[in-house]
Amino acid sequence: MTSRGKSLRIGLTLALCGLAAAACAGVSASAGPLAGTPALALAGKVVGIDPGHNGRNYTDPSFIDHLIWNGREEEACDTTGTETAGGYTEAQFNFNVAQYLAGDLRAEGARVVLTRTSNGGIGPCVTRRSELINRAHANVAIDIHADGGPADGRGFAVLEPVADGLNDRVIGASEAFGRVLREQYHQLTGMPVSDYDGTDGISYRDNLAGLNLTTVPKVLVECGNMRNSVDAALLVRASFQRLAARAFAAAITAYLTTPAR
Ligand SMILES: [Zn+2]
Repeated sequence: MTSRGKSLRIGLTLALCGLAAAACAGVSASAGPLAGTPALALAGKVVGIDPGHNGRNYTDPSFIDHLIWNGREEEACDTTGTETAGGYTEAQFNFNVAQYLAGDLRAEGARVVLTRTSNGGIGPCVTRRSELINRAHANVAIDIHADGGPADGRGFAVLEPVADGLNDRVIGASEAFGRVLREQYHQLTGMPVSDYDGTDGISYRDNLAGLNLTTVPKVLVECGNMRNSVDAALLVRASFQRLAARAFAAAITAYLTTPAR
C-alpha cells in the first residue's frame, strides 16, 4: 500500500476526529465561551449500508435465483453468499459488520439506511437494495461482503463501479471514497490487499447491480476471503468485525468531511 501523502494525512486526522468525536468536539467547544453543543461530524448526512445476502436465502431458491436486470445484463435476484470451511456464513459476517457500522455512524449524527435489518430473512433482490439507497439520496454508501475466493488467496478488495449511464455521475466520487476506504481498512484491520482480485486492492466491476444501478457514491468491499484459513480465522471474530466497522466509519467520515477531493 502506498501513502497518499498530505491529503491522506488530512483524511486520517478527520477520521480520527470522527472516531473520537467527543475529544475533537471538546477542542472545538473550548475555542469560544459562547460555543454550545458542537455539531456531530455526520449531522445531516445520510449513509447507505447494504449487508450482502441474507441468512435464509438458501430456503427459497426459486425467489433468490429469479433473474433481474442489473443495468447491463441479467443477474440473479440474490445469492446465498459464501461461508468459511467451518460453516460461518458470509451473510452473518456482513450483517454483524453492518450493525456495528450503523451504530458508529449514528453516534456521529448520520442517518443510516440499511437494506436489511435482520439476518433471518430472504433477500431483498439486489435491485431493491440499490433502490432503497438511491431513494434515500445517501451521501455515500457501502455494500459489505466477504469473498469466496481460491483457498490459497488472501486479502480484501474494494469493488468500484464502471460507467454505464445510470451511474455516470458518481464514478469519480466512488473512486475517491474507495481510495480512502482502502487505506483505512488496511491500516485499522491489518488485512492485506487481495493477492488474487484487482490491482492494489481495487477491482472495477461492471456486472453487479449494486454498482451498475447506483446513483449515489458507492463501493462494494470484499472484506477478506472466507475460503482462506488465515482470513477466515480473522473474519469470524467479533473483535475483527468491530474493527472493520470502525475502519468503514472512519473512511466514511473522512470522505464526507474533507472539503476538497
Ligand atoms: Zn457476497
